[in-house]
Amino acid sequence: MKLGFLGLGIMGTGMAHNLLKAGFSLTVYNRTASKCAPFVEAGATQADTAADVVRASDITFAIVSDPEASRALCFSENGVLDGISEGKGYVDMSTINAETSKEIGEALTAKGGRYLEAPVSGSKKPAADGTLIILAGGDKSLYDEAEKAFEAMGKKALYLGEVGNGANMKLVVNMIMGAMMAGFCEGMSLAEKAGLSTTDLLDVLDAGAMSNPMFRIKGPLIQQESFGVAFPLKHMQKDMRLAIALGDQVAQPLSTCASANESFKKARALGAADEDFSAVSKAIKTS
Ligand code: NAP
Repeated sequence: MKLGFLGLGIMGTGMAHNLLKAGFSLTVYNRTASKCAPFVEAGATQADTAADVVRASDITFAIVSDPEASRALCFSENGVLDGISEGKGYVDMSTINAETSKEIGEALTAKGGRYLEAPVSGSKKPAADGTLIILAGGDKSLYDEAEKAFEAMGKKALYLGEVGNGANMKLVVNMIMGAMMAGFCEGMSLAEKAGLSTTDLLDVLDAGAMSNPMFRIKGPLIQQESFGVAFPLKHMQKDMRLAIALGDQVAQPLSTCASANESFKKARALGAADEDFSAVSKAIKTS
């Protein structure tokens, strides 16, 4: 089976490398073409446009920034829609809203293509390690055919039904994560300002029911104010914004999420958009 991959950012890099490692024949495209070089070295073929990738592949995977990027990739000249034809599969793994996903799915299926949304839970390291959690919605035959590729990229894949369910599940998961991170950073800052040791706080949290890998990994980075970038803060804020819009649609109050979103917006305003989402700590400490 010939596979294609569009979007070689933080996540796409690990995921596409894992497809190559698993032995798949892979054609790649990235808007900034220079990012394709390491993949060509590892055995992939580089295409000039997204449409060319789709033409060369049975199934094309994509993971780009946000709804605007997913739309541009699909609908712009020489985009996915230009390359799609009867039976070909397209799997958008970006975190986007259900509306955008449906719009893309409908356009591709109208030309005989098959569409699956499959956003992922897990960050830069799980992407590199092939241990993502894949949340799929859409064409079941495509989900079944993509299974071997999902096995190369993830440790678990769930088929959640129609297009929109995978997108919404991902937004719910990330809304919880964003609120958790903001609460965690508030606790770290409160402990510090109250004269407590944040190392003691991390020990206490890790010993009890709130112990989790996110606090364990991000805690020391927040302490050192050395955030790096695994999950860019601008993408986390986009997910909070999309989750709030989903809450509007179904009349679900999201006061905790909305409050956390204000901290992520402030962190963006402070210049932390391209840092890790744990850099929300900067906004919280200066509140
Ligand atoms: P990233 O490193 O910022 O990469 C973004 C990718 O999107 C790049 O390949 C970029 O191309 C491409 N892109 C942006 N705008 C585009 C456009 N208009 N047309 C075509 N391509 C465009 O982001 P990432 O961290 O890999 O995240 C990608 C997606 O996965 C996002 O939806 C994010 O929310 C989601 N996600 C991220 C993580 C994480 O921990 N990082 C975890 C789970 C889900 P250029 O190279 O040309 O800029």
